[in-house]
Amino acid sequence: MTEPALPTPRRDLDDLSAYHSPQIDVSVRLNTNESPLPPPADFVDEWCRELTKVPLNRYPDRSAAELRSAIAQRLRVRPQQVFCANGSNEVLQTLLLTYGGAGREAVVFEPTYALHGHIARVTGTNVVAGDRRADFSVDTDAATALVAERRPAVIFLCSPNNPTGTVDPPELLAALADAAPDSLVVLDEAYGEFADRTMIDAVADDVPLVVVRTFSKVWSLAALRLGFCVAPAGVVAELDKVVLPYHLSVATQTAGLVALRYVAEMEARVSVLRRERDRTSVALGSIEGLEVYESGANFLLVRPDGDAHAVWERLLARGVLVRDFTRRPGLEGTLRITIGTPTENDALITALEAAIGEEAA
Ligand code: PMP
Repeated sequence: MTEPALPTPRRDLDDLSAYHSPQIDVSVRLNTNESPLPPPADFVDEWCRELTKVPLNRYPDRSAAELRSAIAQRLRVRPQQVFCANGSNEVLQTLLLTYGGAGREAVVFEPTYALHGHIARVTGTNVVAGDRRADFSVDTDAATALVAERRPAVIFLCSPNNPTGTVDPPELLAALADAAPDSLVVLDEAYGEFADRTMIDAVADDVPLVVVRTFSKVWSLAALRLGFCVAPAGVVAELDKVVLPYHLSVATQTAGLVALRYVAEMEARVSVLRRERDRTSVALGSIEGLEVYESGANFLLVRPDGDAHAVWERLLARGVLVRDFTRRPGLEGTLRITIGTPTENDALITALEAAIGEEAA
């Protein structure tokens, strides 16, 4: 029997494919940049206790006012400058629904977080890609020339950049803002807390800069889907018009509020992961036939000599799953390794040494 013909989706979606990062059950899972450490047990208890007090027959607070205030207080900005959503991906989507769309452009610097370009395309925004240098830094002169020429609606930066780990110098942002004063600069700081610098302090009501953050990584809450941005109050007011009403569930809002009572525990997790990143980077750096890029995030990009995809397969055979970017344009031959627990990192180091040894043999 032939399938009935289904209605045709938008033709401009033809070239898109669904986000793909395999969720394989292995003993050492280092492929999606999550925190390897669960949130504190007390956090979970407190969150569940708070949820028992909530009238579940009622919609959640549409403006997530309490959560916005708590985030604002922690970051020393105004609640009117904070917008929360289901993961930072929904923040990015809302920004693009509001500032992108048909007849508008977004500039990205590849290779970078694939969802910037993907969500832009889904919203009908034309994507213009500038290239990074061989060391994955953004060439300020080339970047300013590109944005001055295109005058895009949105300029994406990602610092630390996923998947390369590169941290942008603050001068880059200033130069881009000067070159394209009408563009909204969206700086994705999903990994900001793992780096030595953040640009949140540069956000002001008269500056077209948005800094995007997430609870998925440093707060160990990837399962709960909470992200936010700090932006000019005027931008936040526009985002509030576009996002669906009641989009942020009471479970998510409460999780964010309760998490913010555990700042010390979160900071301890970040310190452990930064230390582990530096230790793992040094250990991998001493493996012959492996290039390790400098990273300000909770992951490391590496490039083995020879057939990197075969190295990925040999790691998987040893129960270690990392992200295979070997065929992604601009990242050919690279693998991205999320920093895990000290035990997981030791397992990774041993497995990678063996996998590369087999390659050389
Ligand atoms: N931005 C970057 C750079 C990321 O790497 C990720 C997660 N992979 C996100 C945003 C999205 O994170 P979430 O939606 O979980 O907040």
